Amino acid sequence: MLYQRSSQLFAEAEKVIPGGVNSPVRAFKSVGGTPIFVKKAVGAYLYDEDGNKLIDYINSWGPMILGHAYEPVVNAIIEKAKLGTSFGMPTEIETKIAELAVSMVPNIDKIRFVNSGTEACMSAVRLARGYTNREKIIKFKGCYHGHSDSFLIQAGSGAVTFGSPNSPGVTQGTAKDTLLANYNDLESVKMLFEANPNEIAALIIEPVAGNMGCIPPNKGFLEDLRALCTQYGSLLVFDEVMTGFRLARGGAQELFGVAADIVTFGKVIGGGLPVGAFAARTEIMDYLAPVGPVYQAGTLSGNPLAMAAGLTMLQSIEKDLDLYTRLEEKTAYLEKGLRNVLFQNNINHTINRVGSMISVFFDSKPVFDFETAANGDNETFKKFFHGLLAQGVYIAPSAYETWFITDALTYEDLDFTINAVNTVFQNAG
Ligand SMILES: *Cc1c(COP(=O)(O)O)cnc(C)c1O
Repeated sequence: MLYQRSSQLFAEAEKVIPGGVNSPVRAFKSVGGTPIFVKKAVGAYLYDEDGNKLIDYINSWGPMILGHAYEPVVNAIIEKAKLGTSFGMPTEIETKIAELAVSMVPNIDKIRFVNSGTEACMSAVRLARGYTNREKIIKFKGCYHGHSDSFLIQAGSGAVTFGSPNSPGVTQGTAKDTLLANYNDLESVKMLFEANPNEIAALIIEPVAGNMGCIPPNKGFLEDLRALCTQYGSLLVFDEVMTGFRLARGGAQELFGVAADIVTFGKVIGGGLPVGAFAARTEIMDYLAPVGPVYQAGTLSGNPLAMAAGLTMLQSIEKDLDLYTRLEEKTAYLEKGLRNVLFQNNINHTINRVGSMISVFFDSKPVFDFETAANGDNETFKKFFHGLLAQGVYIAPSAYETWFITDALTYEDLDFTINAVNTVFQNAG
């Protein structure tokens, strides 16, 4: 496949946009080459500026769980746009999507909409600090909660891909209030609580980690965190920006049967438009302005186009009773096929999967935290990435990312992908 036009467009972009991209994860720095410029996408496929068709395993990093250009969502956006695109005044559709989200997700009474997952997590932590009147938070190494200052301490996703898990520009004052624990290591969490009793406002976690590759919580880990938070009077914040509406209608809370105090959303909840949200029980949410003292606001929050896209997405998910079964079956099929070809070609690997989140690590040892995730062989990953791309299969250009499976994928697409992996390593053999 040729990427001449993409390369040209990238060269032009680099002159006026830092690194040519508006979000670092889109860059090809860790795999080499230049990013692919998309012209359009339909269902499970991307069509790039050079006329190549690619099977898409990123799906806008999660939102397109029903496929690109999903007709009901597109139509809802078009119809709303004709009525005006932003008012800065309340609209009925905000209540509609709030009611639906509250009915689908356990343990929440109220929800507030923002414009990104970053904003959702940033606001959730401010709310937790205001509510508990405490300053410190606990986060896990390798977890990503958006790019606000408090979270760029040993952060995952692009932050680790590009070697800035601790970003310059975050003050020491801010950094000292973020305490770090190891994923799946309860002792590391206990030690922080014991050393800082009465100081921890919240513990924030990706209930299934997805930004250091996919890492499931060990059995009982989330339950134990719940118990510790309750014991120390801290709020348990589930960052469900990735897992929300992806692992189940009610997200990870439903899947694992563990109740969080605050839940954050992004990605799927916006149906492909810029939406984030955070939610909790009434007593916590009513700590927010204008009822309570914790300030949080947004000119475009609850934007009608974004709400139309999100509402239609959630309605589609809610009424599709087999959706999560189909996603589970498709992703399990992919997992089995990948295991077979990697095994046959003697490639060291570990595959982690929860529902439609899956990732391949090029290391034979179990991957259960940031350190073990970082052991993967990046040279093999590069070969994997470019070998797949050459055959029209697009995965994230970083070994630290999860694949996001969409229901638009057919079994033919999955077979094609499994064969493509075989081709990559046969030729390498
Ligand atoms: C993507 C992501 C975020 C950040 O969301 P943005 O919309 O990119 O700001 C936060 N937390 C998790 C778990 C994510 O996957």
